[in-house]
Amino acid sequence: MEYWEDIIDRAVDILTTCECEVACYGCLLSYSNQHYHDLLDKNRAVEFFRANRSGFVVSGEIPAVIDSSSSHLTGQESSAEERFLSMLVESGFPPPDSNQYKINLGGSSYTVADYAYTDAKVAIYIDGLSKNLHGDPANKVRDRRLRAVLAEKGWKPLVISAQGLKDAEQFNAFLETIRAAIE
Ligand SMILES: [Zn+2]
Repeated sequence: MEYWEDIIDRAVDILTTCECEVACYGCLLSYSNQHYHDLLDKNRAVEFFRANRSGFVVSGEIPAVIDSSSSHLTGQESSAEERFLSMLVESGFPPPDSNQYKINLGGSSYTVADYAYTDAKVAIYIDGLSKNLHGDPANKVRDRRLRAVLAEKGWKPLVISAQGLKDAEQFNAFLETIRAAIE
């Protein structure tokens, strides 16, 4: 309650500086509110926050459900892979059930996905990390073949570059691709 107005101000700040027009994973969207994505509108949210900045009244206690000491955000420099996972979880996505997941492609060939949702057969590659699908330009032809074989086996390979993780628009689009793929 003590910080209510600060929280409102910060929320308004995030919503008004976000570069999207209506809503994105950088402001209002999360995996868990996907059923409301069509309804969420940051302009209406800003109006709501401004109208409710003062006059906050406590009507009941809400007990904590998450231990605040177990935050996954350590503040230290993390690898692109770790950063991807924490951004995914922050956006409310279920964590992938496997990492460094080996997929056999027949014969002696295989590929190792950085992360995988094995039930939905979604293989996620963070470019610049994986040795078997991409990264080295000399492997482009082989990569294309591997991707085709993956698709043939019912797998959906999704690729984002380590650089793309730092680009809000690209990351946002990637989350949307993952959401549709694991549905
Ligand atoms: Zn936004």
